[in-house]
Amino acid sequence: MKLSPLPVAIVDDRRFDQHRSAEPHPERPERLAAARKGLGAAMSSLQHLEVAARPATEEELLRAHAPEYLERLKQTLTRGWGYLDGDTYFCPDTREAAWLAAGGAVELCDAILDGRASRGLALLRPPGHHACRSRSMGFCLLNNVAVAAGAALDRGLDRVAIVDWDVHHGNGTQEIFYEDERVLFISTHQWPLYPGTGSARETGSGKGAGYTLNVPMPPGAGPEAYGEAFRAVVLPKLREFEADLVLVSSGLDAHRRDPLAEVQLDAEAFGAMTTALCRHVDELGHGRLGLYLEGGYDLDAIEDSTAEILGALLGRVRDLPG
Ligand SMILES: [Zn+2]
Repeated sequence: MKLSPLPVAIVDDRRFDQHRSAEPHPERPERLAAARKGLGAAMSSLQHLEVAARPATEEELLRAHAPEYLERLKQTLTRGWGYLDGDTYFCPDTREAAWLAAGGAVELCDAILDGRASRGLALLRPPGHHACRSRSMGFCLLNNVAVAAGAALDRGLDRVAIVDWDVHHGNGTQEIFYEDERVLFISTHQWPLYPGTGSARETGSGKGAGYTLNVPMPPGAGPEAYGEAFRAVVLPKLREFEADLVLVSSGLDAHRRDPLAEVQLDAEAFGAMTTALCRHVDELGHGRLGLYLEGGYDLDAIEDSTAEILGALLGRVRDLPG
């Protein structure tokens, strides 16, 4: 694989760290500190482009969320500290962080589509892939990757693929695009596990029939099983779809150290899956690939996996295991 001639775009913002829970919670600011350490280890001598986050606009959010939901959310977030559901907390700074994360997701897309970068990685908090059109859940308020995909379509792209390798099913993203043939949603996730959706029988409906692909993985699945899933199912589906842009909901909680699930990936597997997608977008001729942090709750796993992913984006090759 040739080294990309364009820099790798990185989105990050210290204001994401202000989103925090009053009580101990796995979705905590230290996660991004760990990811930044991983970036630093991989990036020291190599080319990258820092892309600033900015708050998402109402128009951008409405491509993924219902207007009533956004109004209700804004109202609730003025209350200071609290919970939107059993495990989705908010604090006085959540409003700013969540809007910046969604806007930062669009900015990464724009940097890639403008040709300022070919590939990129956005370190975002709060995460987004469980956020549905009208509902916050699973630590997620706004669906960052869905807002980014919506922005890309609005710029005139015909087809966007979203690969979600977070260990939990990306139910929010699936719901938002379930009837949309312009967005191919592919999810690998432990099953059964929270949030309970993501059976292989869920394949889209209406015009979107056939544009959702769920690949449930058993607890204990390791790098070889994921390598096989990529070769047999994920990559063939992507080749058939020929996306103009490939986005990744890059949760890191399928790592074997993660406390919330039992899938057994190692950091190298994240590098290998990233390499496979870099190769895929290079085969398509445009090279456009954007990764968005979702979950991942073990700090060492986040650091090591982020270093692997960035290494792959910068051109280091790891072959799929198995
Ligand atoms: Zn997750």
